[in-house]
Amino acid sequence: MSKVIYLDNNATTAVAPEVRQAMDPFLGDLYGNPSSMHTFGGQVARHVDSARERVARLLGADPGEIIITSCGTESDNAAIHSALATQPNRRHIITTRVEHPAVLALARALTQAAPDRPHYRVTELGVDAQGMINLKELEAAIDDETALVSVMWANNETGVMFPIEEIGAICRRRGVLLHTDAVQAVGKVPINLSKLPVDMLSLSGHKLHAPKGIGALYVRRGTRFAPLIVGGHQEHNRRGGTESVPLIVALGMAAELAGRNMQAEQTRVRALRDRLEQGILATAPAAVLNGHPEKRLPNTTNISFEYVEGEAILLMLDQHGICASSGSACTSGSLEPSHVLRAMGVPFTAAHGSIRFSLSVYNTPEEIDKVLAVLPPIIRRLREISPFGREKLAAAK
Ligand SMILES: *Cc1c(COP(=O)(O)O)cnc(C)c1O
Repeated sequence: MSKVIYLDNNATTAVAPEVRQAMDPFLGDLYGNPSSMHTFGGQVARHVDSARERVARLLGADPGEIIITSCGTESDNAAIHSALATQPNRRHIITTRVEHPAVLALARALTQAAPDRPHYRVTELGVDAQGMINLKELEAAIDDETALVSVMWANNETGVMFPIEEIGAICRRRGVLLHTDAVQAVGKVPINLSKLPVDMLSLSGHKLHAPKGIGALYVRRGTRFAPLIVGGHQEHNRRGGTESVPLIVALGMAAELAGRNMQAEQTRVRALRDRLEQGILATAPAAVLNGHPEKRLPNTTNISFEYVEGEAILLMLDQHGICASSGSACTSGSLEPSHVLRAMGVPFTAAHGSIRFSLSVYNTPEEIDKVLAVLPPIIRRLREISPFGREKLAAAK
C-alpha cells in the first residue's frame, strides 16, 4: 500500500517525518514525568513548554491560553462544559446543524433530562444551499439565557468557512461567549486570536500531521474556565492527567510546520484542489459542487455525482489506491446521507453520491492527474449499471 494516493486529509493526516523525529527521544531516554522534582523528569518540562509556545504562536495566542487535551472531541466537550458550568443561570446554547458530532452529539444530549444535571435548550441554526449560516438568525437566537455560541470555523465535509470574525463581533456585542471548533481550519488558514473576538477554540493534532490522540483548547485570558477532566494539577489545574510528552512535543512540531507550510497550503494545495475540482466537473456528467465555491478551505472539495452511490465510487477508487471519503468518516458505514448535505438541502439522490476529496501539502500534480484519469470512467460505468441513472440522464439530455 506504499503507493496510495491519499486525498482524505480531513479524516486524518500522515504524521510528518519531522514530527516523528521530534517526538522520538520522548519515547526513548527522555521518559520522565515533567511534574517530577528531580532533574531527570524536570528536564522534560521545558520541552512541553516550548511545544505549548509553538501551538500558541500558530494561533496568535499566549502560551498560558493553551490547554493541552487528548483530542479535538475532548476540546469541544471541555469548551461547552466549561461555558455551562461557569454560568449556571444560563441554560441555552446556540450551535448549527452542520457541526461535527463532537459538538452536535453533546448539544443534543444536553437537551435530554438527566438525573445528575439540569437540561438545556439548544438552538441549531440551519444553513443555506451553499452551507452558510445567516448572521441575523444567529443574533436573533441569542437571549438572556444564552451561555455559549459554538460554531465551527471550517466544515470538515465541505470545507465551507463561517465568518468567525463577524460572529465574534455579534457575540461580544450581546455579551455571549463564543467557542469555535477550528479543527479543520488550524494549519490551513492563518489565524490570529490576538485580533479576533473568539473566547475558546478547539484544534486536533491528527488533522495537521501530528499523531492521533492529542489536541488543544485555547481559552482566552480572563475567561472563566471549569475543567472537564479533574485530577492532578497539570495544565494549571485546567486538565488533569499526566502530560503525554511525546504527543505534546509532536503537536508543537506540527504547529511549527503548519506555520511554515501556510503559504503552500494557500497556493500549491489550493491550485491542486482547483485542478482536481475543475477537471472532475468538466468531465463527469451531472457532477455538482457542494458548498460555497469561495468561502472554503483551500484543500477541500465535495462533489455530488447524481444517481450513483458514493460508496460504490469509493470502492472503485480504492482499487486504484485512491483514498477519499463519502460524507464524514463518522457517518460512513451507515447509509444515512450526510447530515451536513441534508442541512444544505442537497437532494437525496445527490447526497448519496457525494465524495469528499481533501488534500495536503504532500499531494503531487501526478496524483491529481491519476485521479482525473480514472474517475470519469468509474462514474460512467456506475451510471451504466444503474438503470435509474441511465434513465435520468437520458431524460436530462
Ligand atoms: C476531526 C474533527 C473533530 C474531532 O477531532 P478528534 O481529534 O478526532 O477527536 C472535531 N471537529 C472537526 C471539525 C473535525 O474535523
